[in-house]
Amino acid sequence: MRVLVADHPLVAHKLTVLRDKNTTSPIFRLLTEELVTLLAYEATRDVRVEPVNIETPVTATIGTGLCKPTPLVVPILRAGLGMLEGMTRVLPTAEVGFLGMARNEETLEAVTYAERLPENLTGRQVYVLDPMLATGGTLREAIKFLFARGAADITCICLLAAPEGLAKLREELEGKNVTIVLASIDEGLDENSYIVPGLGDAGDRLYGVVG
Ligand code: URA
Repeated sequence: MRVLVADHPLVAHKLTVLRDKNTTSPIFRLLTEELVTLLAYEATRDVRVEPVNIETPVTATIGTGLCKPTPLVVPILRAGLGMLEGMTRVLPTAEVGFLGMARNEETLEAVTYAERLPENLTGRQVYVLDPMLATGGTLREAIKFLFARGAADITCICLLAAPEGLAKLREELEGKNVTIVLASIDEGLDENSYIVPGLGDAGDRLYGVVG
């Protein structure tokens, strides 16, 4: 497993505004999309491409096209949905599948409540979108699920991670073809497993508090 933290002043700036508790949902949604577009640029560095023959108005030449099957983008509902637009801006031809996962606030275990994905992911490159890597439980379950369907490699794009969650994932996914792309590794988790300093509940910040 590889971890890549995007080191760019615009990433740091946009993240700072996201962290601010006074940032409203409309601005939070817009900045999340912009931030994911910047992270997606790093995350797609190893997207599979092949040579394609084209003709410019001047001459024939060989360019670059995305290989088939196209990459699959999987936002983890609910908060990952806020990252989808930013990702598809960079990979407009990607297919999109959905995984609905929530953490049980008592056991902190990830529970899958919805799934809409191709049955067979053999050879597919998969990009998972989940803003907060806290305990790592949700991503671990999602990654297990996608590998079980045959995914070749999995890149997870997150806004923030806690060192505890990253360490656990590293331990469990040692040697697996997984890359985690992040805007920041924060200080740690609080007693409710929220990331500190973090940005609060990403789903609530994006969409408001839903009871
Ligand atoms: N999920 C969130 O939305 N925020 C956290 O800090 C941790 C998990």
